[in-house]
Amino acid sequence: MAKKCPFLPKNEMLEDNYKQRGLRNKLVKILRNKGIKDDRVLNAVAKVPRHVFFDNALLEHAYQDKAFPIGEGQTISQPYTVAFQTEKLEIKPGDKVLEIGTGSGYQACILLELGAKVYTIEYNKKLFETAKSFLPKLGYKPYFFYGDGSKGIPAKAPFDKIIVTAGAPVVPDALINQLADGGILVIPVGNREKQVMLKIRKKNGQLVKEEFDYFSFVPLLGEQGWNK
Ligand code: SAM
Repeated sequence: MAKKCPFLPKNEMLEDNYKQRGLRNKLVKILRNKGIKDDRVLNAVAKVPRHVFFDNALLEHAYQDKAFPIGEGQTISQPYTVAFQTEKLEIKPGDKVLEIGTGSGYQACILLELGAKVYTIEYNKKLFETAKSFLPKLGYKPYFFYGDGSKGIPAKAPFDKIIVTAGAPVVPDALINQLADGGILVIPVGNREKQVMLKIRKKNGQLVKEEFDYFSFVPLLGEQGWNK
């Protein structure tokens, strides 16, 4: 596969060869050692090329377990964070999933590898346009939306699973309302510096909440997020 990195300048053709596949397998081992257990999630990480989201000069960073700038003041999330949130979503093939914060599109590719039907929304116009034109070239085809994902996508609700990939000040009511019964919402909530990861399951209209570790996301903006 020869692709250009669309996010950063100095694009050069990028391949997915044995070297990159080897680095992905090493990354999978790192994630397993950090506590990711779901083989389906780890297999998805082993499959999705992360280096194509990086400039050639930065390739050595692509398979380190680190977040990385993608321009516009935003980041491609750390692989551990992507795997952690994905594992908590308990994705089943055919699940209708809403992702808030498309960013690079990497997380959406992981969800698609798990057989989900993915609706992804991004607030930054440039990132939205870049991901929308780039992901299909890799063979990944989520439904792309531009706008304030803190309000969800009412016209497409309900969703079996909702993942928020930016730090929220509160759990937006809109997202609870758009979660199907039996559905799961995974969202980091806290202040601008750090957020606790919440998993909220809707069961017979009741909410069952679990709290996990602290993470550090860029802020969720918009009506039910932070003001700029
Ligand atoms: N999931 C992304 C990936 O795989 O690269 C990483 C997401 S990045 C950490 C957070 C993203 O959320 C940024 O692209 C940011 O522009 C976006 N964002 C922030 N507030 C938003 C909102 N209200 N609606 C949609 N996207 C939002």
